[in-house]
Amino acid sequence: MKNTWIRVGLFLLALAVAGFLWFRALSTQAAESKVVPYSELLGTIDSGKVTEVLIEQERVVAKLKEKSDKGREQTVVASRLPDLDERDLLARLEKNGVTFSGHIEQQGGLWPAVLSSIFPLVMLFILFRAWGGMLGGGKGAGAARPMSFGKSQAKIYDRSSENKTTFEDVAGVDESKAELMEVVNFLKSPAKYHAVGARVPKGVLLVGPPGTGKTLLARAVAGESGVPFFSMSGSEFVEMFVGVGASRVRDLFVQAKERAPCIIFIDELDAVGKTRAGGGVFAANEEREQTLNQLLVEMDGFDAGSGIVILAATNRPEVLDKALLRAGRFDRTILVDRPDVKGREAILQVHAKRRKLEPSVDLKVIAQRTPGMVGADLANVVNEAALASARRDGTSVEAKDFEEAIDRIQLGLKKEGRVMNDAERRRVAWHEAGHALVALSVKHADPVHRVTIIPRSIGALGATLQLPTEDRYLMTREELVDALTVLMGGRTAEEVVFTDVSTGAQNDLERASELARQMVCRFGMSELGAQTFGRPGGGPFLGGPVSFEERNFSEETAKRIDAEVGKILEAEHRRAKELLVARRPVLDAIATRLLEKETIDREELEALAKVGSTPP
Ligand code: ADP
Ligand code: MG
Ligand code: ZN
Repeated sequence: MKNTWIRVGLFLLALAVAGFLWFRALSTQAAESKVVPYSELLGTIDSGKVTEVLIEQERVVAKLKEKSDKGREQTVVASRLPDLDERDLLARLEKNGVTFSGHIEQQGGLWPAVLSSIFPLVMLFILFRAWGGMLGGGKGAGAARPMSFGKSQAKIYDRSSENKTTFEDVAGVDESKAELMEVVNFLKSPAKYHAVGARVPKGVLLVGPPGTGKTLLARAVAGESGVPFFSMSGSEFVEMFVGVGASRVRDLFVQAKERAPCIIFIDELDAVGKTRAGGGVFAANEEREQTLNQLLVEMDGFDAGSGIVILAATNRPEVLDKALLRAGRFDRTILVDRPDVKGREAILQVHAKRRKLEPSVDLKVIAQRTPGMVGADLANVVNEAALASARRDGTSVEAKDFEEAIDRIQLGLKKEGRVMNDAERRRVAWHEAGHALVALSVKHADPVHRVTIIPRSIGALGATLQLPTEDRYLMTREELVDALTVLMGGRTAEEVVFTDVSTGAQNDLERASELARQMVCRFGMSELGAQTFGRPGGGPFLGGPVSFEERNFSEETAKRIDAEVGKILEAEHRRAKELLVARRPVLDAIATRLLEKETIDREELEALAKVGSTPP
């Protein structure tokens, strides 16, 4: 949008300048000079009306004594005769007391005229284009597009440019890097992949919190792959006028196809890719929808073998239109997550390379001091530390400069809820350890992939990631019950270790309650028997969240349902507690390791669990 206002401003300026020049051109030319036959010019000179004469290569210009009605100077112009007897002319001029001068530079006399007549035209042309850019080529552009209005403004990264980004500049996100490396390899030697019939993803979506290095990763891909790289931000597609975005998308793909193999990078995809459903009241929405539709069309319009890979990044995958994530579009998602201690150290190293650090500065300690920070924050820390050092006229950055920088930046992050105090961290560590240990101990739980106490967003202070071993269509009662126990594990661990509980388990409890209620009402898995209760009603929008349930049972039954739900939850709570109490040493070991490393992966977790007591 900002872009558009700048353009409107330029447009008006150009209009004013062009108008002014046009007016001047009209007034300086037509009003003053009159073209006459040579004979008439001689007559005018003889009659004494002329004060001054300029003899040029091609013509003779005579300035008249008399001003025009409007008070302007008047000239009379005649073409020179092919073989003019200059003596005769000069004699005449002398006789009448006219000053005269020659001018033989061929274009001299012509220049002002050319300039003043062509320049406004050029201005008009430029102006017309700018205007056209704003209006866009309309919906049915393509062949009928007059001057490529709404052309894509994708920046093409020059491969040979000096300051190119490589994977070395990105640290702490090794998994994401490894996955992107595959894309790079494909673009470098597509033949190898075709030979074995490997299908390379068409679209790769980078997802992660702001500042974790998504844009940086994309730039690194450009730097590494050595193929043309078209980069555009989602917000650049969505302009003020309907149709521009769509035509830009079209144009972007036309350019890309000409230069395949290549990469198209759409940053901030959510600006275009927001879900289409719901209140299309504003024109801006219509524009965005058209752009999104065009993007979908283009993505379907080339096959995976064409050598174009579309890379996109977003902080908000949850708002993306589902159609974008379907197979054949963005069919691979790469998580770019907040870095753990090790990752933070690596990122600090990248940024410290360009600064002069006191040898005593230990980046590991700084990494430990900065939980919850992302790459952008850490880059900021290093920069602030350098500034602090400069402020005190230091020659190199010292540990105390880092302390100052961290304090300054953490103050800001605290407001965003991304920094925890020590007591909070301990609680979260035991909470997550509780989930993990229960998952390790019950028979049917999905294996724990990773446990972390790196805060993701407000409300989720840590996470225990379980990966299902296979796609599930059915779940047995035992599996559901185990899932419930795992959900209970976090809060129960807090109970066991700290005796009181915290608000941190809210989401777990919500999910557990919902699951238990479904077991009773939907799946017939309680003492109430094989029966369903209630009917799911549609929300205000089809497919939207279910906002109410149609109730088809008595008040009496409602009480029994509530009682059953309570019973199930209580039973699993008790089971989780027994488990955790029995394996308390393992629980403590996991939590302690979490505080230390922030993230524990599956192997390490299983190793820790083995050392402790055997499962009951
Ligand atoms: P995002 O696009 O995910 O919001 P950016 O890629 O724009 O984040 O990151 C902003 C800046 O923060 C980068 O230019 C870089 O200086 C720094 N940065 C972020 N992540 C990393 C990282 N993983 N390694 C090194 N520097 C990083
Ligand atoms: Mg970005
Ligand atoms: Zn939890």
